[in-house]
Amino acid sequence: MNVDAIQNGVVIDHITAGCGMKLYELLHLDTLDATVAIMKNVPSRKMGRKDIIKIDADIFVDLDVIGYVDPNATINIIRDGAVADKRTIGTPETLKNVIFCKNPRCITQTEQELDHIFRLTDREQKIYRCIYCETRNS
Ligand code: ZN
Repeated sequence: MNVDAIQNGVVIDHITAGCGMKLYELLHLDTLDATVAIMKNVPSRKMGRKDIIKIDADIFVDLDVIGYVDPNATINIIRDGAVADKRTIGTPETLKNVIFCKNPRCITQTEQELDHIFRLTDREQKIYRCIYCETRNS
């Protein structure tokens, strides 16, 4: 596709260089039946280098996932070839089913229907802890 000309879709911009692939994985974009372009190490005046993800489909994107990977990323919703909405994201306070608790004794391991919820406990170091067992994200 012509990556500059999305008609209806989502552009995630200002991703810290090197974080694009992680975001791609956590957003499960590999399962998406649409054209997705990851551009890595794009020259940026503000950031030096950045990654950009362009999704050529009008999908719902979980902003908490983006905020978890890179709170400085921005999201542009494209409709009819123009930016319809533009947002900065920031660090989310809680994460629901974004990351999963790895503690084998955590209740989420036996209660399969429980949501995996993590709460931000240290904003500076971006530490999240499982609300059930306090295990931190790795
Ligand atoms: Zn846990």
